Amino acid sequence: MTVRVLYVAGSGRSGSTLLARLLDQVDGVFAPGELRYVWQRGLIEDRFCSCGQRFGACPFWTKTIDQAFGGRDGVDPHAMSRAQQSTTRVRHLPRALLSTRRPAGARRLGSYAAAVAGLYRAIQDVSGADVIVDSSKLPTYGHLLASIPGVEVAVVHLVRDPRAAAHSWLRAKAQPDRGGDGVMQQQSASKSAVLWDTWNAAALRLFAGHPRRLLLRYEDVVDDPRHAVARVLDLIGHGGAPAGFVDDRTVTLTSGHSVAGNPDRLSSGSTRIRLDDEWMTALDARRRLWVTALTAPLLRRFDYPLRVGRASGRPSSA
Ligand SMILES: [Zn+2]
Repeated sequence: MTVRVLYVAGSGRSGSTLLARLLDQVDGVFAPGELRYVWQRGLIEDRFCSCGQRFGACPFWTKTIDQAFGGRDGVDPHAMSRAQQSTTRVRHLPRALLSTRRPAGARRLGSYAAAVAGLYRAIQDVSGADVIVDSSKLPTYGHLLASIPGVEVAVVHLVRDPRAAAHSWLRAKAQPDRGGDGVMQQQSASKSAVLWDTWNAAALRLFAGHPRRLLLRYEDVVDDPRHAVARVLDLIGHGGAPAGFVDDRTVTLTSGHSVAGNPDRLSSGSTRIRLDDEWMTALDARRRLWVTALTAPLLRRFDYPLRVGRASGRPSSA
């Protein structure tokens, strides 16, 4: 049986959690979060699932791991995590780009690939969904996934204004999914800009010839979320319709079983969707200029303005 995966590719802090949650409301679509973290944050660290249970106590993940591996003893999450990192890290990107047809190292990843396919198949089975949304974002991981026999991948390349992403990386945000006072990882504006360039360029290159891919801007998702969901459903040939909307900008989100991602995945209920443009006033001019300079070539490619002010910076929904 072929597993159908909708992969959300891009750089960090691009709004993939929101998009995945909107898709999760649609009948026949299931969004279990950033699946590349299932080994480390799920099986090893036992963090919270979005249903409110620890990974090891969540009925969905317990059933899924049982079905895929005959229980937790049937898979070594440390070995899985190592195998994954050995081919998806940024330092392996040049190799990946040189062999766009097949990810570097895929041949020696036979048992890893078989376990991943088994996991995704079990997720599809246990959830009863037609399509699984994997919001892992890392383009190299999506590329690896697409090379695994029995896994059929459609790609949404999600992009967000790099100045907004830089501001998000600088902001301290609580990450309660370990059950303590943790915060989300933070990065400097320079590092954020370089990562944005790297992963977006990689997503463009790695999925260039992919038969089912869609470029979507986060700003357009929040501008018209229903339309964005409809475009994604179109991409995967899903007959369903956007669901959970109370009005154009308000959606009732259910908690689902998301294994990792932005802490927003842990909240549920009626949610008002709005553009988070705090960076326009809060990101200082020096950092804003620096990020703009570092990302200028791709800014144009994705139709973002080079010069932004509070009034003119809001990208159009065109
Ligand atoms: Zn759960």
